[in-house]
Amino acid sequence: MSPRGSAAGRTHPARDDSPRVAPAVTSVDEPASPSKPGPDEPAEPPAREDGISDRWSDLLDYLSDAAALIGLDPDVHARLRVPRRILEVAVPIQRDDGRVEVFTGWRVHHNTSRGPGKGGIRFHPALDRREVSALAAAMTFKTALMDLPFGGAKGGVRCDPMSLSLAELERLTRRYTWEIITLLGPDKDVPAPDVNTDGRVMGWLMDTISLARGENVASSVTGKPTVIGGTEEHAGSTASGVVHVVRDVFAELGVQPAGRRAVVEGFGKVGAPLTFLLHSAGLRVVAVSDIGGAVYNPGGLDVASLSAHAARTGSVAGFPGGDPLDPTELFAVPSDLAVPAALEGTIDEKIAASVAAPVVVEAANGPITADADRILDARGVVVVPDILANAGGVIDSYFEWAQNRQGVAWEQGVGGRLLQRIMHKAFAEVWARSQSLHADLRRTAYAVATQRVADAMTARGLFP
Ligand code: GLU
Repeated sequence: MSPRGSAAGRTHPARDDSPRVAPAVTSVDEPASPSKPGPDEPAEPPAREDGISDRWSDLLDYLSDAAALIGLDPDVHARLRVPRRILEVAVPIQRDDGRVEVFTGWRVHHNTSRGPGKGGIRFHPALDRREVSALAAAMTFKTALMDLPFGGAKGGVRCDPMSLSLAELERLTRRYTWEIITLLGPDKDVPAPDVNTDGRVMGWLMDTISLARGENVASSVTGKPTVIGGTEEHAGSTASGVVHVVRDVFAELGVQPAGRRAVVEGFGKVGAPLTFLLHSAGLRVVAVSDIGGAVYNPGGLDVASLSAHAARTGSVAGFPGGDPLDPTELFAVPSDLAVPAALEGTIDEKIAASVAAPVVVEAANGPITADADRILDARGVVVVPDILANAGGVIDSYFEWAQNRQGVAWEQGVGGRLLQRIMHKAFAEVWARSQSLHADLRRTAYAVATQRVADAMTARGLFP
């Protein structure tokens, strides 16, 4: 039976009730940034008691739940509540019109006990230190859950990349890389693409690191173009992993994928290939949304035509092969599977109450707020968490890093098969443990991962 709902004995504290470790929260709180001076960012973190949720608070809640499930040593728990290091940098660049603009960037190492920091770099106008810290911590647990020899890191620059020319984007990338370069390296911290960054940006990163070191350091960055050591599979690896997980969760629930209806939020790097893969797996993709709008066809969208339309117009909106849909209605559309593949926090309490699918698979990082998660749980919806569902990207990153270090290229197909095996093993482990722990898949995934990280921390001991 499924590990769904409170009836399964899920432990769900209404809020984080573990002992507050003062630096844990304050250390990720953000002072007014150089590029945005003024009182627009709180000096103190928002309090859960005020009903305000944010990714870092949610992360601490998940960690506390996991700690309770596995009886985590309180000293290890306290250490995991604080990122190991946070580097905040000013990123000045010359705009094409000659002006100098100063952006703010970060690179966060949450935990590096299991290996070098690993995690993406995102360019987004709403990025802040708390979010980067939460994303870095999620990487600690994601890499541990997949048993990869990495810790957790994340970085990015607060900017609107759509407003930058290609030359400005390159200058921003190179200056940001330069500012965080002391943290980077194949055995220190290995960046990869994330929201609004891609292979081209990774090529600039790798080149900047290599020029600074005076040697070619291919294994310092993953998600690179294939011509400089990237893998063929990387672009579709997150989506491939999501589909493996969809097959696995359906199999556990006794659901045949053929003809099942799926809704997908986001039609970008993950959502677009995902619609193809879901279609190939026999599902009917009935609704898709992106930043421009949404489209619905209960008989199933023609994914190839939809993709061509989006490539031509820049959005799925206005696709003639379906009816226009209010994007806020996407998850309310009758379906068997919902896949949020856009940004975090898109499924809030209001949306959660209207989710029609009995299964939600998180392709994005943190798309469901902790409060919304409680609502879905109470409604008996099975949620496959991000650290399990979207790990395909970092698994392929591991393959790229390993090949670059070995100086060999694996035969085509090897990575894809290995990726499936790793994800299947992790899913099976989380599913089985969720039964014995009487917890939902998210708490169980965090529990399994936290145990691995804790074991590594204990094995290494505390310096001095
Ligand atoms: N950005 C992806 C993630 O959030 C991949 C990270 C990586 O490969 O390092 O998992």
